[in-house]
Amino acid sequence: MTRHERVDAHPAPTSPWVISTRELGRRAGAMRTYQRTIPAPAGFSLGLIGIPEGAPIELDLRLEAASEGVFVSGTARAELVGECSRCLEPIADRVEARLGELFAYPDSATEATTDADEVSRVVDEMIDTEPMVRDAVLLGLPLAPLCQEDCRGLCPDCGERWADLDASHGHETLDPRWAALRGRLASATETAPDGDGSR
Ligand SMILES: [Zn+2]
Ligand SMILES: [Zn+2]
Repeated sequence: MTRHERVDAHPAPTSPWVISTRELGRRAGAMRTYQRTIPAPAGFSLGLIGIPEGAPIELDLRLEAASEGVFVSGTARAELVGECSRCLEPIADRVEARLGELFAYPDSATEATTDADEVSRVVDEMIDTEPMVRDAVLLGLPLAPLCQEDCRGLCPDCGERWADLDASHGHETLDPRWAALRGRLASATETAPDGDGSR
C-alpha cells in the first residue's frame, strides 16, 4: 500500500499496446517482430485531422534487446479523417509514422541517470507502446491539411468554395483605391474656381 504511484504506472498486461519482453530475453542482439491492429483510443488527433476513435491502427514493431534496454522500431499506419484547412471540406488521408524508442531496463545506467518522464521504461518485463505511437502519429499529422495542394479556399465575401463557383464569380464591391480617387475628384470639382461661370 506504500507504492501507489508505481503500481498505477505498471503496464496492464491485458492492454493491446503492452508487449511482454519475456520472450525476447535480454541477450543483446535478440530480436522479435510483432504485428498488431489496435482500435484508436481518443486523443490521436490534432486540430483539423486525426485518427477517429475506434479506427484501426496497424502496428509493425521490431523489438531488439540492447545492453541498456529494448529498442523498439517500426511503423504505425492508419486512415485519417479531417477537414481542409482552407475550404473546410471533409478529407480522408493516411498517416504512416516511423517509430524508434529505447525502453530502459530497470537496472540500467540509463534508468539510473534519467528522470521517469524522460525515457520509456521496461516495467515488469513489459513495455507500453501507446505513448510512443501517439507521439509519432501526432508528429506525422499535417498542421494545415488540404483537400488538394492548390485548394483556393473560400470566397472571402460570401464564404462559398472557389471550387464550386464560376470563374467569373465576384461581388459588386468598389475597389477602395477607386473610391478614394472618386472622392478626390469630386472635391476638386467643388473647390475649383468657377472660371467658366465668370464669363
Ligand atoms: Zn480545400
Ligand atoms: Zn463570393
